Amino acid sequence: MSSSTTVGTAARPLRVAVVGSGPAGVYAADILTKSEAVKSGELTVSIDLFDRYPAPYGLIRYGVAPDHPRIKGIVNALHKVLDRGDIRFFGNVDYGPDISIEDLRTHYDAVIFATGAIKDADLNIPGIELEGSFGGADFVSWYDGHPDVSREWPLEATSVAVLGNGNVALDVARVLSKHADDLLVTEIPDNVYAGLKDSPVTDVHVFGRRGPAQVKFTPLELRELSHSKDVDIILYAEDFEFDDESDRQIQTNNQTKTMVGTLTNWIAEQPEDLSELKASRRLHLHFLHSPVEIVDSADEPGRVAGIRFERTELDGTGNARGTGELVDYPVQAVYRAIGYFGSALPDVEFDHKKGVVTNDGGRVLDASGEHVPGLYATGWIKRGPIGLIGHTKGDALETVTYLLEDRENLPLAAVPEADAVVELLDARGVKFTSWEGWLALDAHELALGAAASDAGTSHGVEVQRERIKVVPREDMVDISRDGVAAQV
Ligand code: NAP
Repeated sequence: MSSSTTVGTAARPLRVAVVGSGPAGVYAADILTKSEAVKSGELTVSIDLFDRYPAPYGLIRYGVAPDHPRIKGIVNALHKVLDRGDIRFFGNVDYGPDISIEDLRTHYDAVIFATGAIKDADLNIPGIELEGSFGGADFVSWYDGHPDVSREWPLEATSVAVLGNGNVALDVARVLSKHADDLLVTEIPDNVYAGLKDSPVTDVHVFGRRGPAQVKFTPLELRELSHSKDVDIILYAEDFEFDDESDRQIQTNNQTKTMVGTLTNWIAEQPEDLSELKASRRLHLHFLHSPVEIVDSADEPGRVAGIRFERTELDGTGNARGTGELVDYPVQAVYRAIGYFGSALPDVEFDHKKGVVTNDGGRVLDASGEHVPGLYATGWIKRGPIGLIGHTKGDALETVTYLLEDRENLPLAAVPEADAVVELLDARGVKFTSWEGWLALDAHELALGAAASDAGTSHGVEVQRERIKVVPREDMVDISRDGVAAQV
C-alpha cells in the first residue's frame, strides 16, 4: 500500500471482493476477517461477497445431495459468518455480464475468485452424445433445484449405468435408485419429487475402472447406500481383485481398509442365488470396468441402448490396464460422474487442461506466469475439484496469507467507497439480493416446509418437511427483494 498509508485503517479499510459465496469464498472472507493483522487492529478490511445465484452457499445448495443432512452443520457455520454483519453479500450478480474485472478493480484493492467447479469433466468415448447420456453434475443441478437448469429431467430408463467411483457417482446412483417418497423428508423441489416418483428404474449399475481398494468414495457415503429402503445392493465376486499395491493401500489407509471391509462384508452376506433378493430396485456395484463406448439403439437410432466396457486388471501400481475383454450391459441411460471441471472466467488466465484459474498458491498469474497484482483464487477454481468441503479451509488460508503478504503492493481502488458499488449495480439494473434478502428467502422456504408438515401429508405421503426449495431464479429474487422491502 505504498501509494497510501491510510489504506487498511478505519478511515479507509482495505476493500476486498470475493467472487463466489460457496464454502471457498466464505472461508476466505472469514479467514481474512480473523487474520492476526485484523485482530491486532493493524489492518481494517471491508469485504463484499458476490454470487451469481440469488442465494449463498454455492455447492452446498447446488451440489450436495438433498439426503445429506450432515452437511447442515457446514451451512450453520457459513450462516454464522455471514450473519455477523461485517461481510456484505450481493447475490444474483454474475461476474462478467453484471460486474466486470474493471469494475472490481475500480472498487476493490483485491479480488479473490472462489467460483468453484460445476460442470462435468468430459468423457471422450463414442456415443457420449446420444440421447440418454448425461453428465452427473447436470443431474445433481437438477435434483438440487439449480435455477438455471430445466425443470424437467427425462427419467425413462429401467436400467441405468453410472460411471465413476467417487462420491458424486454414489450420490447420483443413490438418488436414482431411492424411492421418491423416501426423499420427501428432504428439501427437494416439487418438480424433482414428481420426476423421481414417475421413474420406472429397477437397476442402477455403478462402474469403477479400478478395483475395490482404489475407489474414491468415502466410508460414510458408501455405507449410506445400504440405508435406502427397498433397494438391494449387488456385488460381483469376479470384481474383487487385490494386488500387492491394494494390500499396501488397505494396510496404510484406514479409509480404504474400512471401505474394502464394507464391500467384502456385503458380498459375503449376499445370497448365492440373487433371485432371493426381494427389493423392487437394485444397486449394482461393479469394479474393473473401463467404459469404451455408449451403444446406439438399432430400433431408435440416436438413443442409448447399452454401454460397452473393457474389463481391466490391476497392474501392481494401483492402476488398471485393459485385458482386451469387452462386455456389454443393456441400459437406456448413462450418467458420467467422473469428476467436475472448472469453467473459465472472463479476463482471467485459465488453465484449460486442469480446469483452474492459472495461479501459484492462489496468486492469479497472467499468460507469462507473472502474478497479476490484486488478483487471487481459492477453492476448486484454484486447485481443481478434489477433496471434501473442509479441505477448502487450508486453501483459503494459503490464499489469504499471500494476499496479506502482498498488501503493501496492491493496486489501490480508485473508488473505494462501499456505497459506490451498490450505486453501480442499481444504475445497471442488476436486481441483486442481499444477506437480509437471503434471510427472507430462507424463512420462506422453511415456511413452505412447515405448511406441508402442518397439512400432515405432502403428495399424499405422511411426512415432516423442514424446507421446500424455491427453484426459479425470478421467484428467488422477488422473494428476497420483497422480503427486504417489506421490512423497510
Ligand atoms: P472423484 O472423487 O475424483 O471421482 C471420480 C471418479 O471417476 C474416480 O473413480 C475416477 O477413477 C473416475 N474416472 C475418472 N475418469 C474416468 C474415465 N475416463 N473413465 C472411467 N472412470 C473415470 O470425483 P467426484 O466424485 O466428482 O467428487 C469430487 C469431490 O467432491 C471429491 O473430493 C468427493 O469426495 C467430493 N464429494 C463429496 C461428497 C460427500 O458426500 N461427502 C459428495 C460429492 C462429492 P480413477 O480413480 O481411476 O481416476
